[in-house]
Amino acid sequence: MASPLPPPGTPVSALPTPTLVVDLDALERNIAALAAFAQARGLRLRPHAKTHKCAAIARLQLAAGAVGVCVQKLSEAEALADAGIDRLYLSNQLIDPARLGRAVALAHRVQLALAVDSPLGVERLATAWRAGAQPALDVFVEVDIGQGRCGVPPAQAGALALQVVAAGLRFAGLQAYQGKAQHVRSAAARSTALAHAAALTREAVASVQATGLRVPLVTGAGTGSFVHEAASGLWGELQCGSYIFMDRDYADNEPDAEAPHFEHALFLKAQVISRSEHHAVLDAGHKSHAIDCGLPITWPQRWPTANGGDEHLILHPDEAPLPALGDTVWLIPGHCDPTVNLHNHLVAVRGGLTQGQVEAVWTVDARGCVQ
Ligand code: PLP
Ligand code: MN
Repeated sequence: MASPLPPPGTPVSALPTPTLVVDLDALERNIAALAAFAQARGLRLRPHAKTHKCAAIARLQLAAGAVGVCVQKLSEAEALADAGIDRLYLSNQLIDPARLGRAVALAHRVQLALAVDSPLGVERLATAWRAGAQPALDVFVEVDIGQGRCGVPPAQAGALALQVVAAGLRFAGLQAYQGKAQHVRSAAARSTALAHAAALTREAVASVQATGLRVPLVTGAGTGSFVHEAASGLWGELQCGSYIFMDRDYADNEPDAEAPHFEHALFLKAQVISRSEHHAVLDAGHKSHAIDCGLPITWPQRWPTANGGDEHLILHPDEAPLPALGDTVWLIPGHCDPTVNLHNHLVAVRGGLTQGQVEAVWTVDARGCVQ
């Protein structure tokens, strides 16, 4: 049987390990900082819910002025809709007719937007939409702006937008996202990559305008790049996700001068369960934190870490003495999104990691929703 959930008021010191903990004070400051950044520049903010998969956090983002949230999978959209989130943008490709049918059904109960990047995708979406009695639906044409993932080449954006309109669907604008460049460490190199992405996006806008259509909105951007999209004058909407938690990987980036400071807000509470003179072993391996972007760091004291497998993380001594058997050690995960997807709940604490107390336990509503 799973451990009982900690009731509100539980001291953080009493939480079992490993537990995924959200520092609410830091999370709220991160949400407010990006909301203020966007508002000051007249930009819409549609944060990516792939990071948290959690309706409670989506509600905090919406309360801070977000126009909706993005999701990456249909089942993720359905789970968040079931949990009461009613403004969703599926910023990814759907090509399976059965799934397109489900998406159209979802558009009858929430405000939905979808993305397309192929004539077949538009054709199938249009078929599903007509069969679904034509609910309101925003359709974005996705453009490949340098990542080499989804999206048409910029010069083909206009033709696809025309096809969207000819099918009777609403052309809502362009999806332009460069995910790879965000993890480039040097701020100057990221700036160069995003300048290239902006040039390709400009080309895509021109391709649409050459058909006589207007581009109502360009949407995209993430935590490692949004200052550049914001400064370009092209993007009207930001989709940052990880800014709420700031994982180790993003903290390794050289920050952009214009970016607000985001704090670490996602922590894994772990415990030393074995100890020798030369190492300490924690009870949290990669079944409780994702390691695709590297190992977590310990916080605030940094010991060198080594992979201990599914259920363990190994700490080696540094200048500071190793923690003792039974001690609590806090980890900052290497990559927040897949870490959250490993947990059923997020324990939200108020008042810090040492003195704080549980304020709420949030369900990860779309956990495991990969379809
Ligand atoms: N938009 C899209 C299409 C994404 O795929 C992602 C993340 O992978 C994001 C936005 C959010 O990016 P980040 O979590 O880096 O802020
Ligand atoms: Mn990620």
